[in-house]
Amino acid sequence: MPTVSSIYKAILALFFIPFTAQAASVCQEYSARIPGLTAAECDAASWRDMHAKTVLGRTIFGVDVPVEKPDLHVLVIGGIHGDEMTSGGLVHEWLSMARTPLAGTPLRIYWRFIPVVNPDGLFAKPPRRTNARGVDLNRNFPTLNWARDSKIHWEQRTRKDPRRWPGPTSASEPETRFVLSQMASFKPNLIVSVHAPYAVVDFDGNSSPPVRLGRLFLDQIGVFPGSLGNYGGMQRHIPVVTVELASATRLPHPGEVREMWGDLLHWVNDKLAK
Ligand SMILES: [Zn+2]
Repeated sequence: MPTVSSIYKAILALFFIPFTAQAASVCQEYSARIPGLTAAECDAASWRDMHAKTVLGRTIFGVDVPVEKPDLHVLVIGGIHGDEMTSGGLVHEWLSMARTPLAGTPLRIYWRFIPVVNPDGLFAKPPRRTNARGVDLNRNFPTLNWARDSKIHWEQRTRKDPRRWPGPTSASEPETRFVLSQMASFKPNLIVSVHAPYAVVDFDGNSSPPVRLGRLFLDQIGVFPGSLGNYGGMQRHIPVVTVELASATRLPHPGEVREMWGDLLHWVNDKLAK
């Protein structure tokens, strides 16, 4: 027979378990999903509400590392594909490094970091590439002839792979429109978009590409209808560096993360000076 105290505890649990689950902080939720991110590091970075919502109503967060009279604005985004969990971890590591200037990099850079553009995909069980409506956000940008080319590409090249569905129309998704609004308002001179797990660096734009970031070497894998690289780099003339980490679940070790950051900064300072 249950004791009075066990009944009391059961009643308490009924009330408080839902309460504590809802009260779990944003940083606790994200640190449970993103490799290498602790809740304390996330809290210390002061993520801010970017005033944009996903399909499921989740807030998209970002962190600015501003500087007075910047030479360049650089937008760094992770997690456009929800199942590439390390991308958010790398973006977070880099945002803490951005707060300390690196020797030999004189340009004054105003950084904006968006660790996870597609939190609905990240928090799906299991995490998934697409957003909550099943759209591959990195095929949803309004590139020229999107309606024709993205359909042909999806049907013929991917054989209607559901992980690569470009969506019903270009920029149909709130997460895509959020990135577009960031391009309009923040006016980045460079976009760095972090993915996994192809272990390369890709580049779209007119300047000469970074040859390597740490152990990742340049490999221009192609131009896809509706991709951010195609839209930003080719159409809007905002260079886009696409970083493909080697693993979606295991972050490179700290020395490697720092080396990649140093290589990125030196390339920016050499190639993007006005
Ligand atoms: Zn990806």
